[in-house]
Amino acid sequence: MQTLVLKSGRDRSVINRHPWIFSGAVKQLPQANNGDIVQVMDNQNNLLGYGFYSEHSQITCRMFEFTQTPITINDSYWMNKVVSAYQYRKKVIDMEQTSIYRLLHAEGDFFSGVIVDVYDKVAVVQLLIRGTERIQHAIFEALRAIGIVYIYVKTKSSTQRLEEVATPSGWVGNACPMPVRAIENGIAILVDVEKGQKTGFFIDQRENRRLVGLYAKGKKVLNTFSYSGGFSLQALYHEAALVHSVDSSKEAIEMCDANIAANFTSAPHQSFVADCFDYLNQTTVDYDIMVLDPPAFAKNARSVPNASRGYKNLNYVAFQKIKPGGFIFTFSCSQHIDRDLFRKIVFSAAADAKREVRIVQQLTQPEDHPINIFHPEGEYLKGLLLHVS
Ligand code: SAH
Repeated sequence: MQTLVLKSGRDRSVINRHPWIFSGAVKQLPQANNGDIVQVMDNQNNLLGYGFYSEHSQITCRMFEFTQTPITINDSYWMNKVVSAYQYRKKVIDMEQTSIYRLLHAEGDFFSGVIVDVYDKVAVVQLLIRGTERIQHAIFEALRAIGIVYIYVKTKSSTQRLEEVATPSGWVGNACPMPVRAIENGIAILVDVEKGQKTGFFIDQRENRRLVGLYAKGKKVLNTFSYSGGFSLQALYHEAALVHSVDSSKEAIEMCDANIAANFTSAPHQSFVADCFDYLNQTTVDYDIMVLDPPAFAKNARSVPNASRGYKNLNYVAFQKIKPGGFIFTFSCSQHIDRDLFRKIVFSAAADAKREVRIVQQLTQPEDHPINIFHPEGEYLKGLLLHVS
């Protein structure tokens, strides 16, 4: 095995178990190929652990094991990682009521470079670096061992370009007919893992959807950026008086309508293929509850100023339109906009709209998207439940 040597004898980042080693911290690169497993040592020849080497990435090495004594890394090592991620999920998720969950959350499961989302008997695997691509057979074997029947690999074109991951999207073995029917908090959800956005569903909003349900009885609810209707379903299940779902994607709204039909014979629901900004500006409905869950406006650090304006405008119109005494569930899933900045943006929208706004609850990502305490970048979803007088 090749060795990567760090410049420092006491690299703060590695000692603090941050899994990313940036090129600037490296004294001597390994004689390795992209995706090779390397041992990481400090400049005194002390072993610090093991990681995946990424030849062309800014993150030269992604560590998956911190240890001072050598260990064997073989297929059962990887399988154990998947199985322990599954055991953790069984502790934090009520699998009777929910068959949709994230099984592997990359750094959050000490497994940089791989994401696995489960939809009942189907697992969607995203291999984000060459290193995890090389060990995919062990991941698949572990998935089969925990009862997964169908495996779909989904590779983004950006991953193919930037990390040289070559595995194309497709089924490993038998294909599952689409859509797959799974459940979230007792509600049926249809998911198309092949054609849907991300891995097919936005799993990370499960607990926030449940919370919307608790507020929804008898209320008029607007679900903007609805995708396939996750929030709308919870609101209807809890007897909302009226629910409107808005998304600019026709496919998303078709899936939303199919989800409503899968759960209710009739429901006070209407869907709209529309731009949410336009919709909010035009609407004259006196909504009691609004959900604002846009896509990540800030894809990188450079786009933070523009993204901030986007979030501000969105929250501003919502503040203008919400009925006095209503609630707004507002979110940002941009990793580059932290909780403090998001709160400042919402603050300035509230100030401009001249509404009395109180924070009722601070919202975040659910248990199956755990944040490795040594990797704060893993916290990306933040939200506020607001009461607007
Ligand atoms: N709230 C959803 C997830 C939202 S993802 C859920 O619970 O599943 C973001 C969604 O916003 C996507 O479905 C995308 O199609 C939609 N979208 C992006 N820009 C939009 C716009 N300007 N107006 C309306 N929808 C938009």
